Amino acid sequence: MTRILVGECKQEVSTFNPVPSSYEDFIVVSGAALLDRPRDGQCELDGALEVFGAQPDIEISPTFSAKSITSGGVLGRADFERIEQGFVEALRSAPPADALYLSLHGAMSAQGYTDPEGHLLGRAREILGEDIPIVVSMDLHGILTDDILRHADSVSLYHTYPHVDMASTGARAARVLLKILAGTARPVTASVRVPALARGDEMITETGLIRHVIRRCREIEAMPGGLSAGMFWGNPFTDVPNLRSNSVVVFDGDSSRASGLALEVADLFWEHHERMFQPLSTLESAVARTLASPGGTTILVDAADAPSSGASGDGVTLVAALLGAGYGGRVLAPVVDVPAVEAAIRAGVGAVINVTVGGTLDRGRFTPLPIQAKVRVISDGHYRGEAWGGSYAGPTAVLESEHATFVVTSRPVSLHDRGLFWSVGQEPRRFDAVVVKCPHCEPQMYKAWCSQLINVDIPGSTSANLKSLGHTLCERPIFPLDTDVTYERRVSLFQRPRYR
Ligand SMILES: [Zn+2]
Repeated sequence: MTRILVGECKQEVSTFNPVPSSYEDFIVVSGAALLDRPRDGQCELDGALEVFGAQPDIEISPTFSAKSITSGGVLGRADFERIEQGFVEALRSAPPADALYLSLHGAMSAQGYTDPEGHLLGRAREILGEDIPIVVSMDLHGILTDDILRHADSVSLYHTYPHVDMASTGARAARVLLKILAGTARPVTASVRVPALARGDEMITETGLIRHVIRRCREIEAMPGGLSAGMFWGNPFTDVPNLRSNSVVVFDGDSSRASGLALEVADLFWEHHERMFQPLSTLESAVARTLASPGGTTILVDAADAPSSGASGDGVTLVAALLGAGYGGRVLAPVVDVPAVEAAIRAGVGAVINVTVGGTLDRGRFTPLPIQAKVRVISDGHYRGEAWGGSYAGPTAVLESEHATFVVTSRPVSLHDRGLFWSVGQEPRRFDAVVVKCPHCEPQMYKAWCSQLINVDIPGSTSANLKSLGHTLCERPIFPLDTDVTYERRVSLFQRPRYR
């Protein structure tokens, strides 16, 4: 019998969000409960468990899982150390095992820890020893560090954005681990650093320029000996020393092959990098286009305040500008505002209240907007997302003013689909304008049916106008923050001692 430990630690952080995230922002589960939860086949662990489960001679030993409910600001030091402690204790009390599979996001940052994932892998090595194979899966927005590559035998990462291949990424990682355990793979990892931060439509893996890079990665994985290949372009809002883009190729036993292919992937990315940014409309132009709309629904993309990327979610800049310009249509917008929700709950459904919405969290960037509004709906904030299952927005109220309907939540939630709006009876198609706080949703959600979609340049801790954010920690020069950026075609090789 082969025993495989499994675990998870996933969070994505914007270091520009002034609100720190905490232990309470995670769903933490340890031991057997990790396997008891409902499996909807939409996460990496589900995919890995399916592969392991199909083997007759494998026993799964669940260890520890910490998954953030949504992305947020930098994690507090004590909060991260509590997660670390839970992880360490679970590994220490686990029965002797033959391998570890770990599902990571990769874009964490905690006070005092700029590479939390590399740190956790280091702790795993301390406890489990140098010989046990450790295979990880990651989001392509993860920040790849030498510590991760040093401690992990192999890394597999998403090939899709918007992300739809979580389970198959876990399955790919699991298959690599099975090959290692069977003695049929001796992984060597090559990685090439690319000094670029990427954003925008060209990163959509179906249609953007990035598809050329991803196609090559998939071809490499299909080669005899190709164990894993991918391109990390990092979360540009996680300002840590290792923030950059990286190619990674894991090959069976052949370091020169791995190196050549990692260079090829990185070269392809660099070839296109100058177009990998998001063209944005000014606020003035976005407002003018919305006012001039001939009909249908205008989608105003406010990716600068995208909770899924780590923003605080309390911006109302677009609605304030539309109302200020005398907009006569009806606009639907999400906003995080605890005092406004509390006022709505106190007043009750049907009451008319005078409150401000927005500007309670990221006070440096957002201004509260005073409104008189009717309380239309109050909800406990538990809802089912359209894409990824259950979500929790905390107590939630729908406040309807003359031209704007606000879905006011107590917590930021990922807004990559229409689940939050639907959960409180708001159908985006029935509005003249909708504020969408997510850089890219799957097309059927908005893009396929709206009359126009406008990406707006307004302040926010996840702005695609990367120069507006004020990076201080990532290595410079880097595109697009600096000019005269040079790409050095240099390969870093990693191989665990047991394969040498
Ligand atoms: Zn991602």
